[in-house]
Amino acid sequence: MPVERIRNFSIIAHVDHGKSTLADRLLELTGAIARNGGQNQVLDSLQVERERGITVKAQTASIFHRHKGQLYLLNLIDTPGHVDFSNEVSRSLAACDGVVLLVDACHGVQAQTVANYHLAKQRHLAVVPVLNKIDIKHANPDQVCQDMKLLFDIDPDQVLRVSAKLGTGVAQVLERIIEVVPPPQVQRESDFRALIFDSWFDKYRGALNLIYVLNGRLEQNQDIQSLATKKVYPVKSISVLRPAECSVPDLSAGQVGLIACNMRNSKESIVGDTIHLKNQAASAAGSYRPQQPLVFAGVFPADQSKHVALRSAIDKMILNDSAVTVKVDSSPALGQGWRLGFLGLLHMEVFCQRLEQEHGAEPIITAPSVTYRLVLSNPKMIRQQGRDTMDISNAALFPEPNSVKEYFEPLVLGTIITPTEYVGQVIGLCVERRGLQQSSVNIDETRVLMKYVLPLSEIILDFHDRLKSLSSGYASFSYEDHGYHPSHLVRLDIHLNGKPVEELCRIVHASKAVGVARQMVLKLRELIPKQMVQIAIQACVGSKVLARETIKAYRKDVTAKLYGGDVTRRMKLLKQQAEGKKKMRMFANIRVPHETFINVLKR
Ligand code: GDP
Ligand code: MG
Repeated sequence: MPVERIRNFSIIAHVDHGKSTLADRLLELTGAIARNGGQNQVLDSLQVERERGITVKAQTASIFHRHKGQLYLLNLIDTPGHVDFSNEVSRSLAACDGVVLLVDACHGVQAQTVANYHLAKQRHLAVVPVLNKIDIKHANPDQVCQDMKLLFDIDPDQVLRVSAKLGTGVAQVLERIIEVVPPPQVQRESDFRALIFDSWFDKYRGALNLIYVLNGRLEQNQDIQSLATKKVYPVKSISVLRPAECSVPDLSAGQVGLIACNMRNSKESIVGDTIHLKNQAASAAGSYRPQQPLVFAGVFPADQSKHVALRSAIDKMILNDSAVTVKVDSSPALGQGWRLGFLGLLHMEVFCQRLEQEHGAEPIITAPSVTYRLVLSNPKMIRQQGRDTMDISNAALFPEPNSVKEYFEPLVLGTIITPTEYVGQVIGLCVERRGLQQSSVNIDETRVLMKYVLPLSEIILDFHDRLKSLSSGYASFSYEDHGYHPSHLVRLDIHLNGKPVEELCRIVHASKAVGVARQMVLKLRELIPKQMVQIAIQACVGSKVLARETIKAYRKDVTAKLYGGDVTRRMKLLKQQAEGKKKMRMFANIRVPHETFINVLKR
């Protein structure tokens, strides 16, 4: 196919605005899949995607379409649209020359629509604006067009109106893509060069790489070399996704395809890497920059005998999701495990859910945290670190205050779109989370777009859920990295009868210390069983006690209340008590059951 008749595009939209449904219709219309043939949302192939109804991994389909007597090759890349997945979106966009900007005609422009639109603009991509769901009675396409004019300066006459569900107007979308999206800017005559923009793991073939060819041509059995690792691999198979895998003899510049080349693990198959022919010089193809993980959580096997199995499951998952980082971690309470870095909370939840569903793992996952940055003042620590700053996400390693000159925490720039009647509550929530308003714009009489700078640590737990529930589901939220800023942080320690319990300490903002301290001691009072001695639970910063609760001692003989009588029952109780002891950890003279730690530490 000549380059002039290739179009590479993505569909971008807020979650649930109908990307996957539109993608299905486009595939049907071009004959790539049968009409009404079985399952909906063909491109959402992971189980978790079907369950949650969201698209997590970008999926690609190459389709053919006849336009004005000419056959065109369209490479469609379905992107995820949730707040955490802008990394997958920008990865997809690296292989595109245009986007379909899809907006729900009932709900209008949402926070993620705004974020995705700006990602596309940064890459100077052609935009095909499309309103979806015009079949719904209370849809308000004219109003949404006005909003798009105000926010994106898009001419209302240029906006297509479709129903992806019914197929209305979808043919026009194909026409418009061919007319508006330029052909790829590539060279076929030069040496082969391609960008790896996605990769996943196949049990039999190892890592599969989805590549976008920028220069030249690749044939089967040629040897390719990675620009990043310099390693050489024979190309075992080349295929295109239609959307089912179809073997092809070669791939030319402008095309998107899948190659298998004996890459065994995630260290070899690097998303964003450039590949070229063996022993040829090449420059990096990527205008694509991988994102840094923002949210960290410990992942531990519930049972240490499952350690190896869990490690291999995590390794396989990472092949499918290169945004996740892994470091070895260990905890006296939970044993050997790993500290994983994610792009956001939903990213973490989806990863863990897939770990369970696709690999049968049942790990303990600790509450998420962020990475703080400290400027050290202690010369000994500076020498140890080799520099005067320290990045830290594990509270147990938090140094004494007199070793630290300055504390920094990560911030995000959040975009919130909310109906006007909830503005008060939304502002209340943002203030409670230490947010600073940057701007507030009325999109129309009914909706407001606000920008807030918020500490990342304040949004990773339940910010999105709270926002949704206080606005009856109408407010939407999206965020991007906003760098590190000075902060006042303290380490909150938990003491049981005067002894610190390392795994329960955490880093909090000074203004939140008392509140968190109260919460922690109350939770522990509930979770730690009564024992023969009285237990004092204290939450302290340094030597200052911020909250305290006591668990009263109970009577010694567990069987006393049985009045002799039933011997078997008495024996059973004693046996249970003995078994319970095995799973305990001792602090001073207190036994803390394993379960207590899991319940306090996990999400
Ligand atoms: P995505 O998250 O953007 O991929 O959205 P989906 O394609 O999964 O669609 C979200 C929901 O909207 C699904 O329940 C679809 O059936 C529904 N939907 C999609 N397009 C239309 C449409 O044109 N009309 C109506 N009434 N519903 C639609
Ligand atoms: Mg989808």
